[in-house]
Amino acid sequence: MSTTGQRTTTDLVPLDERLLYLRVLRAVIAAATVLDAALLPQLLRRSFLTVALFALAYLAICLAAEAFWRLLNRRGLWLFGGLLMLDGVYLAWAMYLTGGSNGPLRYLVMVHLGAVTLLASYRTGVKLALWHSLLQLCVYYAERAGILNALAGGGASDEWYRIIAFIVALWTLTLTIASLAAVNERELRRRRFELEQLAQMGRGLEEAHDALAVGDVLLDTLAETFSFRRMALFEVIEDSPRLLTCRNLLDAVVSDFTLGPGSVLSTAAANRDTLLVSELDSSVDAWLTAIMPDARNVAVVPLAADAVVGVLVAETGRRPGSRIERRVVATTERFASHTALAMRNANLLERMQLMAVTDGLTQLANRRSFDRALDRELQRATRTDGRLSVVLIDIDHFKNLNDTHGHLVGDNVLRQIAAALRECGREYDTIARYGGEEFAAVLPGCSSALAVQVAERLRRAVEEGPTDVPVTASAGVATYPYDGVDVEGLLGAADRALYSAKRAGRNLVFSAEQARAVGVSS
Ligand code: GH3
Ligand code: MG
Ligand code: MG
Repeated sequence: MSTTGQRTTTDLVPLDERLLYLRVLRAVIAAATVLDAALLPQLLRRSFLTVALFALAYLAICLAAEAFWRLLNRRGLWLFGGLLMLDGVYLAWAMYLTGGSNGPLRYLVMVHLGAVTLLASYRTGVKLALWHSLLQLCVYYAERAGILNALAGGGASDEWYRIIAFIVALWTLTLTIASLAAVNERELRRRRFELEQLAQMGRGLEEAHDALAVGDVLLDTLAETFSFRRMALFEVIEDSPRLLTCRNLLDAVVSDFTLGPGSVLSTAAANRDTLLVSELDSSVDAWLTAIMPDARNVAVVPLAADAVVGVLVAETGRRPGSRIERRVVATTERFASHTALAMRNANLLERMQLMAVTDGLTQLANRRSFDRALDRELQRATRTDGRLSVVLIDIDHFKNLNDTHGHLVGDNVLRQIAAALRECGREYDTIARYGGEEFAAVLPGCSSALAVQVAERLRRAVEEGPTDVPVTASAGVATYPYDGVDVEGLLGAADRALYSAKRAGRNLVFSAEQARAVGVSS
């Protein structure tokens, strides 16, 4: 009747607490025996003193066994199995002493059985019911055989039927309590599992540093916790939401990403409330139904942290008509709200990192990211024996523009110049605001001739750009390794070329080589 090794209430309620309840139960059993003997002396088969001594001895043995268990450093749970058997023997004996199957102590057997089934486990309860039944039969047959004194009066067959009825009641009680306790236990276990999943998700979120990683943690946790058939996580819903990450979705070709009026995504985001949909409507959520065809029982859960940072669409599938369980929705919402905070933080971090490398006025790369790009590309060119050019661009007579039109107009012109320059770069070129009204470009893989062409394009973009006030720019180009082999050498050569372009009349592009030629001849 050991309670070890079973996945039972054991891991839900701490052992010490359960032992305390058992101790109290034993004290109640002993006290009730004595009380019963005092109140109903006519039913006693031995003297009151004998009954009281048995009760005391029983309690003493139980306490000694527990003390012994503590001496064993809390090993040997078999001792408690033994004690449960002792409880049975004591109860059978006390019941015999105080009136047998007629006496009130028979209710204590039921209490003991119910308590142990709840405190230990279903299996322990069944074993204990078997033990109590056996003991009842033993006492009955011991009386029949004359080993114990039978109670005067009442036929043997009456007694037999009472015993059988009592045993049936014992089993009914045990099986009822055990089944109902199992239901509660399953619920408790499930809740604990969900809490563990939440904790695990928290750890995952701590390590996720961008929105995509955060979204993946959420979908992985949900996939482990519930049996969602398909899932999709969208970033902020505006006119056309962006799919951040998904599970089991179709690779559908979607051309129209706009949301129809009453789209589940925008409704959930606007109301900041979960939407449960039995079927998606293809006329308002055309592309959601394209990537999630025939979706049934869909939960649309907004991820809200101050603002809504995303919307989760999770489909349970299953038969039409069946609903998503409320507890699944509640837990998913809880997971989503934790994810929302992490996603907001990831977005903030991303924005800060972007700000650290972006020029505030023009939104071009700033000086720091220009330096970093030049360093990186120079290393790559050195390693691969490749080419690399830099272009420095300075706006002509910008001071005059400021003086004439004011700094605000000057700022706006700088913004417009930046937008025009941005259009001219290739994907792997870095075009940056170098400082003041100077811009610079790192052109990986560009020979001198090609770089002069690019610089010419940049110069023309400034000249032809739709600026509030017409402006021109001069540019100097230097190429690795001809004009310089390190950052200082290259930038110095480009600067000298720029100076030559200024001296030659402005609105011109000069290569470092041209600048050297001019410098030699002048
Ligand atoms: P040039 O280069 O053709 O020799 O003449 P310049 O007038 O452009 O001369 P310089 O490069 O010395 O002057 C730079 C001017 O750019 C000075 C400053 O007022 C202006 N400037 C620098 N940064 C900003 C800015 O952020 N906003 C505005 N409005 N003006 C700026
Ligand atoms: Mg300047
Ligand atoms: Mg200038």
